[in-house]
Amino acid sequence: MLIHPELRFNSYGAYLRRRFGCRVSKVVVDGGFTCPNRDGTRGFDGCIFCDNRSFSPGGARQTVPLEEQLEAGIAYHRTRLGSRKFIVYFQKYSNTYGPVDKLRDLYRRALAHPDVVGVSIGTRPDCLSSEILDLLQEIARTRYVCLELGLQAMDDEILAQINRGHGVGDYLRALDAAAGRGFQICTHLIHGFPGETRERFLKTASLMSALPVDSLKIHQLHAVRGTKLAEMYERGAFVPLTHGDYVAAVCDFLELIPSRITIQRLYGSAPAAIRVAPSWNLKNNAMWYSIVHELTRRGTWQGYGIHPGRLAVGTH
Ligand code: SF4
Repeated sequence: MLIHPELRFNSYGAYLRRRFGCRVSKVVVDGGFTCPNRDGTRGFDGCIFCDNRSFSPGGARQTVPLEEQLEAGIAYHRTRLGSRKFIVYFQKYSNTYGPVDKLRDLYRRALAHPDVVGVSIGTRPDCLSSEILDLLQEIARTRYVCLELGLQAMDDEILAQINRGHGVGDYLRALDAAAGRGFQICTHLIHGFPGETRERFLKTASLMSALPVDSLKIHQLHAVRGTKLAEMYERGAFVPLTHGDYVAAVCDFLELIPSRITIQRLYGSAPAAIRVAPSWNLKNNAMWYSIVHELTRRGTWQGYGIHPGRLAVGTH
């Protein structure tokens, strides 16, 4: 059964547990990459919500050696959550934006740790050459690989408005080139852009359902200090969603997503020191519970709008 009987959606955490037989945590590392929407290749200003303040134009950034980051991250997750296996998550910036030899070396070093089962690689759709896709395909023959494509909105008007520096066509081309190569594909989405109605967001769910996407990450648009979006908030050009509206929209969205797609994230948070809006002050779990409670209240679940019927409740 793909749909978790209590959560009412196909949880990625449960998927990893089924696949690897134990609790698996993602350990975030910084591979020292940059972003074409910051270094001038696509633009200098970045996405309006981007908080990559340590960005240095013109080249790779200095970071703590990967092995040190990995040891610290693994120790943290092992102690705090009791995780036994780990996926190394290259999260910051565009983690395929570099020479293929550099990527090969980084991914190889990440996978050398005996308790690491795979890698998750976050990137933009316009940073994927065929050589890079070949590399990921090669690694995926023996290890778990998840390619995380930042899209944010399936709408060219919104992508232009948020200064994304790529369009929906770039995403569809990247997806087409990446699909069927033996690794998973996750897509990142955000809800709550200025001018984005719930109907517009839900259209994304219908479009996404027909694509070769294995998992989704969704979060609310939130402004952090120092970003263009924070400025927009101050002058009233960005009005954040209310907590209730966001929960309702996500539940509507989940009802339209096929049960085969795993859900990796439904909420984003920023440290209080830099958070500007919205100020929901929720822990990650609290948002998950809000969504689960709303699905339970409605008597629906992920995919309900595609295949209504009964939610089988049994062992997961
Ligand atoms: S693609 Fe990512 S790193 Fe680049 S500007 Fe946008 S949010 Fe920032």
